[in-house]
Formats: sequence, structure tokens, C-alpha cells
Amino acid sequence: MSPATTVGRWAPSPTGDLHLGNLRTALLAWLFARSAGGQFLWRFEDLDGAVRPQFYDSQLRDVAALGLDWNGEPVRQSDRVDLYRDAIADLRRRDLTYECFCTRREIAEAAAAPHGPSPEGAYPGTCRRLSRAERERKRAGGRPPALRLRVGADDAGPAELTVVDRQLGDYTGIVDDFVLQRGDGAAAYNLAVVVDDAAQGVTEVVRGDDLLPSTPRQVHLAKLLGLNVPLYAHVPLVLNPQGRRLAKRDGAVTLRDRLALGETALDVLNLLLNSLGLEQVESIGDLDAIVEYFDSASLPRQPWVYEPPALKG
Ligand code: GLU
Repeated sequence: MSPATTVGRWAPSPTGDLHLGNLRTALLAWLFARSAGGQFLWRFEDLDGAVRPQFYDSQLRDVAALGLDWNGEPVRQSDRVDLYRDAIADLRRRDLTYECFCTRREIAEAAAAPHGPSPEGAYPGTCRRLSRAERERKRAGGRPPALRLRVGADDAGPAELTVVDRQLGDYTGIVDDFVLQRGDGAAAYNLAVVVDDAAQGVTEVVRGDDLLPSTPRQVHLAKLLGLNVPLYAHVPLVLNPQGRRLAKRDGAVTLRDRLALGETALDVLNLLLNSLGLEQVESIGDLDAIVEYFDSASLPRQPWVYEPPALKG
């Protein structure tokens, strides 16, 4: 029997230039897929209002400049809203959703309340318990509701689920009544990512470990929708010397910044390879040789702490 083909993917949001942390995750996702002889797909996660159109092309250009390639045309979530609508309609029909009128502030306050402490980041279920009259009153208030998934019995707290991560082993996290559709009608990240990975035939998800806590929610949802659950590998982020996630304000962290300092794309690629304990290459084309001996088991398990040089000018 021939092994199933690996299909990996890279799913950036076109909200700005990619920085070294993003590029390093892209490189890893590509190495995982290509070293398995698999396909590598590009999906723009552009359902968020912070999208800026110039970054579709600039992100493609930057990743290509480092020698990474992908199969087929990049897809955009904004072109796929029917898929999300169908999945939400399915869950609605099965009475697995409810409307939520809470503001962020109300959720934070309810989560901190002495009588209803809920695990960190978990929605405390406030709107699930609204009476019909209360719901009508909230609707009349004019604030468009978000739609949440109903998880578990009404009198139970948030559920937990253990998922297996290829880099980190077992991870147990919360599955609360998370948002499927935002108040503005757009599909929420957790819904769209699950629907897309399955629709695109993705078999492995390689991404930053800041998304690990979302994974139990996504696995739960995939199972509810009868979709294939991909393998997961969460990889450490790049941190600044203060231990915070690398950000643009930390200095010269985008490819554009590095080129302005007089470096080349090859220099940036070698910086990333070095941070992963992988050999340097003499030209971008030599990246294929790295694929040959790439072994995910020997990747660093700790974040890369990096101090970027100052920006020029
Ligand atoms: N769009 C997400 C990001 O840019 C990635 C989501 C994912 O890989 O599941 O952080």
C-alpha cells in the first residue's frame, strides 16, 4: 500500500510584511512537507479587517526570494465564504450553535467573577443561558450577535481535549463555546481554518506554537463536521531579548529591512537555517539539499531569542 501523500500548507494573514519569525515558520512548514515528498499549499487568511492588499504580493515575493515554492495558485479565504457558510449552516441545523451578544469587556469580567471562574481564555457560557425573553431583548438592542459553538451539556463547564503534537507530544487544552462566526458575519479563524484544511486535503499543519491552545478546539470542530484531522507540529516562536514575541518594532526584522541593511536574501535564509541548527547553503538553490537530510526530531524545542540590528535611517 502506498503511503498517503503529505499535503502541508502555509496560511499567513496579509496584514503586513512577514518578519523573521513568520519566515522561519514558513521555512519549517515547507521543509516538513518537501522532506516527506509532499505538496505545499499557500492560503491567505484574509477574513480579518486588518488586511492590506499590497501584502498579498509582497508576502509571496518574500517567501519565494528565500527559495520556497508552493503547489498551485495561492487561495484566499475571502473567495471561499460559501464553504464556511455551509459548515455553519450544518452546525446550526444540528442545534450546535447559539447567538452571543457579549462584548470583550463583559467576557473578561464574567471570566474573573468569583462565582464563575472559568479557565483562562475560556468563554464562560453567559449567552448560552439566556432566556428567550432576554435573547429577544438583546437582539432588539441592535448589536449583531456572534455565533458560538455549543460544546457539551448545559450544566457542564468547558471541556478539555488532548491532542497529539509531533514536536511537543500530548497537549491537553480547553474546548469552550468558541466563536464560529463574528458579529460582522465573517467566519471566525477557528472555523475557517478547519474547513479549509479539510477542503484543501491538508494532512499536516506546521505553525507557530502560539496556536497550540487553539488546536483542541479545532480538532473538536473537525470531528463534529466529520472532517479529517491533520497531523500537527507546533514550532517555537522567535522572541526578542525581553522574551516577547518578535515584532516589527524590534528592529530590522523583515526581508525588506535586511536588504536595506545591505544583506541578501541568501544571508537571511542562512540566518534562519542557522537558528534551526541546519547547515548553511551557498546559494538559494541549494535549499533542496537541506530537504534531503531534514529531520524534524532534531529541531530546537526552545524559542529562538534574537536581537535584530537597528533599522537604518
Ligand atoms: N493565519 C494564521 C497566522 O497568520 C495562521 C493560522 C494557522 O496556521 O493555522 O498566524
